[in-house]
Amino acid sequence: MEPESNIKFLVTGGTGYIASWIIKYLLEGGYSVNTTVRNAKDDRKITHLINIEKENPGRLRFFDADLNKPGSFDDAMANSDYLIHSASPFRVQGIKNPMKELIEPAVNGTANVLGSALKSDKIKRVVLTSSVASVYGDNSEIKAKPNGAFTEDDWNETSNAKHQPYSYSKKLAEKKAWEIAKSQDQWDLVTINPGFVIGPSLSKRVDGTSVNFILSMADGRFKTGIPDLYFGLVDVRDVARAHILAATGPSVSGRYILVSESMAVIGMSRILTDLFDHRFPFPKSTLPKWLFYLIGPFMGFSYKYVRDNVGIPLKFDNSKSIKSLGINYKPVSSTLKDHIEQLVKDSILIT
Ligand code: NDP
Repeated sequence: MEPESNIKFLVTGGTGYIASWIIKYLLEGGYSVNTTVRNAKDDRKITHLINIEKENPGRLRFFDADLNKPGSFDDAMANSDYLIHSASPFRVQGIKNPMKELIEPAVNGTANVLGSALKSDKIKRVVLTSSVASVYGDNSEIKAKPNGAFTEDDWNETSNAKHQPYSYSKKLAEKKAWEIAKSQDQWDLVTINPGFVIGPSLSKRVDGTSVNFILSMADGRFKTGIPDLYFGLVDVRDVARAHILAATGPSVSGRYILVSESMAVIGMSRILTDLFDHRFPFPKSTLPKWLFYLIGPFMGFSYKYVRDNVGIPLKFDNSKSIKSLGINYKPVSSTLKDHIEQLVKDSILIT
């Protein structure tokens, strides 16, 4: 059998919260990794990757590439056996131009990256980091599901450039990936569709949506009340492992929803309050829906968003990921504990 170090993965967007864990596990598993970053000189974004490289010398190479630049992934793709395409803008608030900030980089970026994969004669499988955002748009859609849960057969048919543009960008990017995959027969495509990803970060950055959300729960931003929102939650380490299993597993195909448990953010807050013995100002109550209708627009949440999402529980069928990828999900309570402990250890949260 070929030694793992001869097997090369390309991971796009290596600076990202999820991709950093994928790279760490790949290197620990003995594989070689090419990764793309937008600016290899930005220490704030890549110091943690340099440290991971030092523990696994000679097996991590950096390449400059931008989703908006056609052909910029060609060099990193050369000699790679597997592609994990994770880079994509992940922002849900403060979006002024959804086309430029989200949709074009996600969709054209997927076309560019997979276009480079089409030019390679070595790539065997492409794993795309998609999202449950391409499975559903608004929580209210759950009411029409026969078994009361979203499955891999579902597609988001309701988001658009004005309503939930991030979700729209993920749905269009995944559709684009399936279209390209079907145009050739050298590699197969597998998509990982995680719920909201939480858990410790390998970098000290707090500008990513996942990390910033957990920080906002602990730093008092919602101490007067938090919107009654529900998410499917999953540990970042389970998501990273799922990508590697999806790339190398023998009987893997199609889409994989990755969700450990679904719960309300106030439920997350109660777990955190119990775990950390009231050391941080976690939210104690939810904002009434009528109040959120009033203040939501100032926070970037439309009337329609509030109507179709606030106070509506979610459920996902994660059985395919357990059966065919073998994921043994971490409970959300341990994920939350590890995440807060990392923020404290890295002096981001001060007790
Ligand atoms: P991060 O924001 O931490 O990472 C996003 C990555 O994409 C960064 O490396 C970023 O580079 C890169 N990127 C963004 N725009 C461009 C561009 N124009 N050209 C090149 N690279 C770009 O997010 P996550 O790690 O959380 O997300 C990674 C993937 O997982 C995304 O596809 C996201 O949609 C998906 N996802 C995330 C979930 C979550 O809860 N976190 C849930 C479901 C799916 P840079 O560092 O330079 O900004």
